Amino acid sequence: MTSQSLSEAVAEIVDKFSISEQRLKSISDEFIRLSKLGLHHEGESMSMIPSYVTSIPNGKEKGTFLAVDLGGTNFRVCSVHLNGDNTYDLLQTKTSIPRELMVGTSKDLFAFLAKRVEEFIKTHLSEKFDEDSVDHQLKLGFTFSFPVNQTAINRGTLLRWTKGFDIKDTVGQDVCKLLQDELDALNLKVHVAALVNDTVGTLMSRSYSSPGQHSTLMGIIIGTGTNCAYVESLDAVVKLGESELASLAKTSNMMIINTEWGSFDTARAVIGSTEYDDSVDQRTPNKGMHLFEKRISGMFLGELLRVVLTDLRSKNLLFSSSSPQLETEWILDTSALSRIEADFSQNLIATRTLISTDLGLETTLEERKAIKTIVSAIGKRSAYLAGAVVAGILELTSALDKSAGVDIGMDGSVIEFYPGYESLMREAVSAVVGQEKEARVHIGIAKDGSGVGAALCAVVA
Ligand code: ADP
Repeated sequence: MTSQSLSEAVAEIVDKFSISEQRLKSISDEFIRLSKLGLHHEGESMSMIPSYVTSIPNGKEKGTFLAVDLGGTNFRVCSVHLNGDNTYDLLQTKTSIPRELMVGTSKDLFAFLAKRVEEFIKTHLSEKFDEDSVDHQLKLGFTFSFPVNQTAINRGTLLRWTKGFDIKDTVGQDVCKLLQDELDALNLKVHVAALVNDTVGTLMSRSYSSPGQHSTLMGIIIGTGTNCAYVESLDAVVKLGESELASLAKTSNMMIINTEWGSFDTARAVIGSTEYDDSVDQRTPNKGMHLFEKRISGMFLGELLRVVLTDLRSKNLLFSSSSPQLETEWILDTSALSRIEADFSQNLIATRTLISTDLGLETTLEERKAIKTIVSAIGKRSAYLAGAVVAGILELTSALDKSAGVDIGMDGSVIEFYPGYESLMREAVSAVVGQEKEARVHIGIAKDGSGVGAALCAVVA
């Protein structure tokens, strides 16, 4: 092993992950092209799902609302009290879904969910919930993180279950109605007013909480996965058809669109691919799909690093031996990359401890420097790809030509905790739209998308 060959190999890897300014522009252009296709026709690679949310909050909304979130193994019930001054109070409970209900019948699952809502109301909202008053019917926003074909703000049929759920008789059914029927069976005065995607909730939550004077244009999540919702002109959503558009246009000229940008894949040649990406993709259940997400989000970056390190080890360029941990797929969490990125000690002590603890391997300083360089390349590519498509949405909507500034709400551990992520994203945005425009983009963390955001969807429904 020579230091020269390790540094050469690392330089080559960094080069493979790097994205030139020209390529950022190509990515943005391709994203705009595919987004427009998705707004015109169903079944395009960019889903561009209409949310039927046609207004955004201004922070003055008031009242108490319910929100529920079925996203995976847990079911959350929250009450959201909007104070009308950009602030809110949130109370929530979380229950895990029993395994047998994930593969049982629709009725059993939705009855279980309705029962949790009843318990929540009895425990936390009894004084606000007057059983005899129709006026006190509570509006509920339902965050449902599974693929649905949404046809109205509170109507959407399940396309397929994911994440371990497999209840045959739910597919093709309206999930809002299934929940409403079970709430009605318990005589609860609760109205399922909105079916909400979590990125739409993030946008709504940011729009309510943001103290700035600029309107919120996007809600972005970069956590386990990645996705974005944004505010589009109603007439651009051509696929809704003339009569639906005419009907919606009576009350609004905009609609929030859920881009599902994680599947911005057909542009594989444009977004770029390394042998390491292919290797990670091979280990996923949805091979060849969601390739954009697999280069950006928390679920994949740790494994990407492990695959690169394994490759260097197999070439005898890194580590004096392998270890069972290094050979274990998905063992590295993306938080490890954050910790290495944040290690500015002279001898990279935190990195040494991390590699020793997480991978059971001892390292030389030279090796730790190499690892840190690779980590930065992976993190930077993630942020650059996200920045390129943010720029795409800025151009697609001409938002910065129409107003002095725009606001973006973001959520997810990668955005929140990866050191320098926002600055890197901004670099990419600036490379595409120019520095002057980039400086007019305001970014803030938007919490509680599936709580307060879902409640706000119920408010505007
Ligand atoms: P979710 O998207 O599931 O709602 P999060 O936003 O917390 O939840 O995202 C979880 C993902 O973020 C995981 O894939 C995890 O690896 C990654 N993650 C957790 N902590 C950090 C961190 N400090 N830096 C970067 N990524 C992180």
